[in-house]
Amino acid sequence: MSEKNAARGDGTMLVSAGRVHGVNASSVNPPVHRASTFLFDTLAAFETASSTPFDGPFYGRVGTPTTFAFEQAIAELEGGHRSIATASGVAAISAALLAFLDRGDHVLVVDTVYDPVRRFCTRMLSRLGIETTFYHPAMGADIETLIRPETRLIYMESPGSGTFDVQDVTAIVEVAKARGIRTAIDATWATPLFMKPLAMGVDVSIHAATKYIVGHSDAMLGVVTTNAETYDAVRRATQDLGACAGSEECNLGLRGLRTLEVRLRHHEAAGLDLASWLEDQPQVARVLHPALPGFPGHALWKQQFSGSCGLFAIELVESDAASVRALVDGLRHFKIGFSWGGYESLVLPMHPEKSRQVARWTGSGALLRLHVGLETVSDLRADLADGLKRLRPL
Ligand SMILES: *Cc1c(COP(=O)(O)O)cnc(C)c1O
Repeated sequence: MSEKNAARGDGTMLVSAGRVHGVNASSVNPPVHRASTFLFDTLAAFETASSTPFDGPFYGRVGTPTTFAFEQAIAELEGGHRSIATASGVAAISAALLAFLDRGDHVLVVDTVYDPVRRFCTRMLSRLGIETTFYHPAMGADIETLIRPETRLIYMESPGSGTFDVQDVTAIVEVAKARGIRTAIDATWATPLFMKPLAMGVDVSIHAATKYIVGHSDAMLGVVTTNAETYDAVRRATQDLGACAGSEECNLGLRGLRTLEVRLRHHEAAGLDLASWLEDQPQVARVLHPALPGFPGHALWKQQFSGSCGLFAIELVESDAASVRALVDGLRHFKIGFSWGGYESLVLPMHPEKSRQVARWTGSGALLRLHVGLETVSDLRADLADGLKRLRPL
């Protein structure tokens, strides 16, 4: 945000971003402001606050000093104009979509999108008279062929959910800019550390802070970061929808940020360690991890990301279905559960064949998404090795 921060490394920013200081001494962490109501001494003070409601305490839904601190920290990390905290990742995405779309408009959404976003498009947006075309994640500049006069927004998610397809964000942004179309990206996998969408020309960058930013599986939180041109529209939409973030959640987001880099470096290393080991296991048909040299999107990933996280998928060889269940049920450290980005390892079967329209999933074995947590890597490897022994390939 401010120029004096421009030269600081991400690690330094993570430690200091959003911290406020009193005149003499103050606690390292800003206090958590729990508030719906702020009191004003005079009508004049109230009127001044009313004219700039997003820049200081005004009303709880608009933000508290804790909310603003979290928003400021994310904006700094993303190199954005301003960030807006929301009640969840999906609240951030729906606000960003509704900020730019109106009755009769058309939106291009990547087919590997997070499933609840697909449902938002096919249920909510279609009810509002907004048409969605799901496009193949391999489309780069050729996305131009799908653009119509009424296309207002191109929505990306890279890498995509479940199968980790990497998009050519730069090529898509170039086409969109030439046509005056807005772009938005869900960059949750990369976190604000490993991808800088705004520097790549994307208008709006979105994170499900629920994942790595909070990092401890104990809060729901989303955040949208905008450039100067898109800020007002996105702020209005988040206000109209009313799905504001709570102060406690923003505080947990701020707390998570402080350790984001060290946690991510561990998730990255442990994830790569297990992913490359899994590649050598006879029961594994494919490992879907953008940072593996053999992955189809690897070259693009190298250009557009500066690191990877602990989330990837494996396709098992075709096996007896009961033995796949036995593999998953018997895991001791990889627990079955939604979400990811916490300190714990998780496993979840994926079913892209049920929802995809153009990026058809053609795998014949079961697809398992793994989140590699902060447990000792050798324990995780042993857990997976035992699990794979339970598999009965056909
Ligand atoms: C989890 C997730 C979301 C949604 O975040 P919530 O906080 O659960 O609403 C959005 N995008 C991606 C890629 C996710 O993994």
